[in-house]
Amino acid sequence: MLQTEDVAIHYGGVKALDGVSLTIEKGQVCGLIGPNGAGKTTVINAITGRRRLTRGKVLLDGEDVTALDVVARRKRGLSRSFQHTSIFGGMTVRRQVELASYQAGVEDSAADAQAILRELDLMRLADSRAGGLGYGEQRRLDLALALVGRPKVLLLDEPMAGLSVSESHDLAQHLKALAARWEVSVLLVEHDMDVVFGISDAVTVFELGRVIASGLPAAVRADPRVREAYLGSAA
Ligand code: ATP
Repeated sequence: MLQTEDVAIHYGGVKALDGVSLTIEKGQVCGLIGPNGAGKTTVINAITGRRRLTRGKVLLDGEDVTALDVVARRKRGLSRSFQHTSIFGGMTVRRQVELASYQAGVEDSAADAQAILRELDLMRLADSRAGGLGYGEQRRLDLALALVGRPKVLLLDEPMAGLSVSESHDLAQHLKALAARWEVSVLLVEHDMDVVFGISDAVTVFELGRVIASGLPAAVRADPRVREAYLGSAA
């Protein structure tokens, strides 16, 4: 569903990404980990079209989208979540999702919003003011907003940041179920190793802008290079 081929982004002498090839299958959750500065956020920016590539290609569902801008890629089904996207605190949760759906050009935005709120267990909060939500609920709303129009690929940059262990676990389970039911391919950048190894179908490890390991979670966790570079005693 999503492929990057030999993607590089250089900032002067800094090789933020240096020849990254990734593949994510339909409905798969791919965890992406690596030390600070390894290039994880940069690869998300490369895939969404926010950063111009120094070299390489991005393919979405077989189509080369490298030359397309952010908006055109979003229309083709590539979505990312932002933190605190719900800026209209006075609006209800339902209204916010409907509005985002409408803005994304979805024809029946009410039905789209309803399906998303159901899927993420947000129905009980549908008529609450977004500004009054707790932090964990707010993060779930951020995810809901990224799901308007049922994207094919969802890119998530640290969606669990700041959540309690139980909130993280809860969000992770929703994400896993969603990927399977809606056949959304998820690229998950996350520092919480329990979450990454718990829900990913495949894990990729970055170091200094390069892939140093990729594969099934158990194999990646056991890889000596990964343990040395990143996981250390946490492995
Ligand atoms: P973290 O886990 O800390 O969020 P990361 O793996 O997401 O890190 P990136 O933010 O992608 O890492 O950064 C990769 C490298 O590229 C770093 O060395 C960073 O300093 C550099 N970098 C990122 N953006 C720019 C920029 N706009 N100009 C110059 N260098 C940049």
